[in-house]
Amino acid sequence: MKREKLLESLRLSPGRKVNLARDFDPAFTGTFEDKEAASGLLQEGIDSLSELQTRLYAEDRQALLIVIQAMDAAGKDGVIKHVMSGLNPQGTQVHSFRPPSEEDLGHDFLWRSACRLPERGHIGIFNRSYYEEVLVVRVHPELLEPQKLPPGRRDDAFWQRRFDAINQFERHLVNHGTRLVKLFLHVSRDVQKQRLLERIHEPDKHWKFSLADIRERDYWPQYTAAYEAMLQHTGTEWAPWYLVPADHKWFTRLAVARILIQQLTEMDPHYPRMSEAEQQMLAAAKAHLESD
Ligand code: ATP
Ligand code: MG
Repeated sequence: MKREKLLESLRLSPGRKVNLARDFDPAFTGTFEDKEAASGLLQEGIDSLSELQTRLYAEDRQALLIVIQAMDAAGKDGVIKHVMSGLNPQGTQVHSFRPPSEEDLGHDFLWRSACRLPERGHIGIFNRSYYEEVLVVRVHPELLEPQKLPPGRRDDAFWQRRFDAINQFERHLVNHGTRLVKLFLHVSRDVQKQRLLERIHEPDKHWKFSLADIRERDYWPQYTAAYEAMLQHTGTEWAPWYLVPADHKWFTRLAVARILIQQLTEMDPHYPRMSEAEQQMLAAAKAHLESD
């Protein structure tokens, strides 16, 4: 499969109804056979990302926001670590979203994300995001209680209003110079189990183990339903979702690198052009230094 075709197959068409189990294979690896076959391409991808980021930073006109959502152990941390390894930390910010604080709960659900948006010239990465508000919160609606919301039923129309709010928020961002790349890392229940067991068996991975992950696993069907609704209702023309197969970590990383390169290439950042006056100033500075 051609590289571009591969990316197209991962981008969700806006409004498409999603059945994760039937239509999307978490073990998909395109035409790549294994990690070795993909490793050269991944390194190439990381180098291109670095060059594109330098231009984005120098241009200082647009921002890129990468939103990563997934079930536990789908590989969010690995994607951030590997794919971003070639980026300049000065122009990159990663923010990991935990349950909201007291201060967060005093505001609407988008507020804390708005405070963390990347500035122009920067790449922002949301490790989880405002999408938790239609995922974990939908699976555990008691989390709405401390949110001090206006009264009303917490029915489908309530969640639809949240989807609408998210779509409008994203539209606003896109209209004002921030491109969004939304990645859903799609892992299977079996592979999640293997990875959670590794966290128990391997001492070096103990620090990653959390009992909460095991508890949340019991809600797999409810999460799947929440993800499917989210993907259908918040996949838009201006901010589409990418469903990234996540059973093979090497493929996830390669696919994410390629998606980001494609997006940054479309953003087409340019080094700023110097004005006539600036060029004269540069020539004068050069003459001054040379005569020193
Ligand atoms: P890992 O994959 O390594 O476990 P993680 O992203 O799960 O990393 P944790 O600190 O384990 O990080 O978990 C963060 C927790 O915060 C998740 O359980 C997530 O559901 C929760 N969370 C994030 N945003 C919200 C929110 N708006 N409301 C409630 N819970 C949230
Ligand atoms: Mg966790």
